[in-house]
Amino acid sequence: MRKADVAVVGAGFTGLAAALELARTGYKVCVVEKDTEAGGLAGSFRVGGERLEKFYHHWFASDADMMALIRSLGREDQILARPTRTGMYYAHRFFRLSGPKDVLCFTPLSFVNRLRLGYVALAARRVKDWRQLESCTAKEWLVEHCGEEVYRVVWEPLLVGKFGVYAAEVSAVWIWNKLKLRGGSRGKAGQEVLAYYRGGFAALVDEIVAQIRQLGGEVLLGCAAESVTSADEKVTGVTTSAGEITARAVLLTTPLPVSARLLRDACSAQYVESLRKIRYLSNICIVLELSRSLSSTYWLNVNDPSFPFVAVIEHTNFEPASTYDGRHIVYLSKYLPPEDALYRMSDGEAVKFAMAALKRMFPEFEAAWVTNSTVWRADYSQPIVGLRHSELIPAMQGELGNLYLAAMGQVYPEDRGTNYAVRNGVDAAKKIAVVLPLQSAIEMPHSLNGAF
Ligand SMILES: Cc1cc2nc3c(=O)[nH]c(=O)nc-3n(C[C@H](O)[C@H](O)[C@H](O)COP(=O)(O)OP(=O)(O)OC[C@H]3O[C@@H](n4cnc5c(N)ncnc54)[C@H](O)[C@@H]3O)c2cc1C
Repeated sequence: MRKADVAVVGAGFTGLAAALELARTGYKVCVVEKDTEAGGLAGSFRVGGERLEKFYHHWFASDADMMALIRSLGREDQILARPTRTGMYYAHRFFRLSGPKDVLCFTPLSFVNRLRLGYVALAARRVKDWRQLESCTAKEWLVEHCGEEVYRVVWEPLLVGKFGVYAAEVSAVWIWNKLKLRGGSRGKAGQEVLAYYRGGFAALVDEIVAQIRQLGGEVLLGCAAESVTSADEKVTGVTTSAGEITARAVLLTTPLPVSARLLRDACSAQYVESLRKIRYLSNICIVLELSRSLSSTYWLNVNDPSFPFVAVIEHTNFEPASTYDGRHIVYLSKYLPPEDALYRMSDGEAVKFAMAALKRMFPEFEAAWVTNSTVWRADYSQPIVGLRHSELIPAMQGELGNLYLAAMGQVYPEDRGTNYAVRNGVDAAKKIAVVLPLQSAIEMPHSLNGAF
C-alpha cells in the first residue's frame, strides 16, 4: 500500500504538469501510468539511437504554457524554433501554402476567392467572444466568410479528413480556434514558425519525470489504475495493477470515458454517465522510415477525398534526417472511428495500404525506399467538438469534494494540444492546492526537507 497526498492517474502532459506543480508546492504525489513509458499521446519510440513521437508533434509559437513550463525547468535553450513549409495536395497537384503570398498564387481558386481565403484568417481574429460561435457550424461560418467555392476546395476536405462522418456537426468554435492559432504562429515574413525540443518530446518528458522524482514524488510506469476508491462522500485513493494507493485527493487525466469506468463504484450513475457525453475519434499513424525524401514540404494537407489519409507529414523537413542517422521520417495520419476497417487492419496490411496510396501521390516512390515502418493507434485521440460543446464538458472539480478531472476532452474553446494539457494540469494543481492543506513535509526525502 502506497500513500500520497495526491494520486494522479495518467502520465501524459496533463498528469505530468499537474504532478510537477503539486510536487513543487510541497505535496507528495504518486503518478500512475498504464504504459511502460510516460508521455501519453505525445509518447515516443526509438528510431535508430533517437526517440521520435509515435504521433507527429510540434508546438506553435503561441504555446505560452508549454514554453513557461520549459523555462521553469531552465531548459529554454533546448527549444528549436524553425520556419516550416506547408502544402496542399489538390486535384493530383501539389501547392505551397506556407504564407500569404502562396495563398495569392493558389490557382485552384479564382483570384477573388484567393482573397476571400486570406480574409477568413482576419475574420477569425475579429471574433472577440467564441461563445457567439457555439450555435453555428464550421460550415455555416466558413461559407459566410469565404463563400461556397473556397469551402468546397479548401475547408470541406480538411473537415471531412479530420472528422469523417461528423464533419457537418463540427462547431465554428473549432475552426475559429485553428485559424487564430495558426495566424499567431507566423514569423515576420508571414511564414509559419513551429517549435520542437532537442532530443524530441521524450527528452522533455524525461526532464519532468526526473524533477517530480527529485522532489519526492513517484511516477509508476506500467501501472494501470483499475478503480477509484471512496468512503463517506470522499475519494480515498486508487486501486491499481500494482496495489492500493491511498490519497487525500485524486486527479484523473485519463480520457473521459476511461475516467467514467474508473469512477463507476465511487460516483453516482448520473455523474458517471455525464462523463460519456463527449465522443472521440481514434487515430492511426503509419510511420515510414525512408532512404530518400519525398518532397521539401513538412506538412502536406490532403484535399483529395480519394486519398485515405488527411495529411502526409515529413517530419525530417522540420527536424533534419541527420538526427535519425539519415533516415527520412514520414507520418501518414487518419482520424477515424475505432470500428473503421483501416483501424482494424493488421500492421502489415496498414503499411501496404499506406504505401499503395503514397505511390499514387508520388509516382516515383518505391517500396524499396522503406527501411522500416511502425504503426501506432490511439483510441481516444480527438474529441468531436460539436454545437454547444461547452455544455458537455465536466467541471475540473469532480462530484466528490477531493476528486479532480483534467483531461484532453475538457480543453476548450481551444482544440487539444500539449500546451493546453500543461495549462489544464497546472490549473488542476492550483485548484487542489487551494483546498488541500500541506502536511507531507515529513514524508519528503530528508535532503529536500526545508527546501521550500
Ligand atoms: C495524431 C496526433 C497528433 C498530435 N499532434 C500534436 C502536436 O503537433 N502538438 C501538440 O501540442 N499536440 C498534439 N497532439 C495532441 C496531444 O498529444 C494531446 O493533446 C496531449 O498529449 C494530451 O495529453 P493528456 O495528458 O491530456 O492526455 P494523454 O496523453 O492521453 O494522457 C493520458 C494518459 O493516461 C494513461 N492512462 C489511460 N488509462 C489509464 C489507466 N487506467 N491507468 C493509468 N494510466 C492510464 C494513458 O496511457 C496516457 O498516458 C496530437 C495528438 C494526436 C493524436
